[in-house]
Amino acid sequence: MKDTFKHKGLRNKLASEVKSKGILDLRVLNAIESIPRHLFMDSSFIDHAYQDKAFPIGAGQTISQPYTVAFQSELLNVKKGDKILEIGTGSGYQTAVLCELGAIVYSIERQKELFKKTSLFLPKIGCNPKKLIFGDGYKGYVSDAPYDSILVTAGAPFIPKSLLNQLKISGKLVIPVGEKTQIMTLITRISEKKFKKIEFGEFKFVPLLKEKN
Ligand code: SAH
Repeated sequence: MKDTFKHKGLRNKLASEVKSKGILDLRVLNAIESIPRHLFMDSSFIDHAYQDKAFPIGAGQTISQPYTVAFQSELLNVKKGDKILEIGTGSGYQTAVLCELGAIVYSIERQKELFKKTSLFLPKIGCNPKKLIFGDGYKGYVSDAPYDSILVTAGAPFIPKSLLNQLKISGKLVIPVGEKTQIMTLITRISEKKFKKIEFGEFKFVPLLKEKN
């Protein structure tokens, strides 16, 4: 669990690379620069931690590409104290970025193995989300709703109604929608019944899965 000057140098380069791909939010770039991504990865991939790529994290899942994490975080326009629900905790890297941005984070994971591993790991690096939940993200997490934002970090075949219902008025849902590839979609709740949708470019995520295993 070491974070060295070499790692910091590599992170600095990674943040510049993400910036050169179009991310403007300085707070997001600072978060990429400060979070030790190598500590979120399996030892066999640790040397690649600061490449702008997704990598396997076990249980058939991946740690998202830093550019994608930055893109989704920028869309959320996180303000300090925002209550955010993340679907797909995975390695906890995106969770850590949200915490670094000052959000109060709830995050759901459906793979028991990853849920356990990440629950133990995050506090060790000083990241303390409000709640890590083992469960099905399609349902959201109604007992603490409504949320300022909901962020889905797996490819959703459709937009789950329950997630829309758990947004505050003017709250945002960022969700990659599609089967093989996904269109990054930002939905804002305008009123109780009205939602505004904006679509961004194409991305590739592991699927948002039904039923636990
Ligand atoms: N945010 C993660 C990305 C992990 S990949 C990171 O930064 O590492 C997507 C994650 O979503 C996987 O861990 C997968 O197990 C989880 N997932 C898939 N379907 C889900 C569901 N229905 N509910 C909760 N989590 C789900």
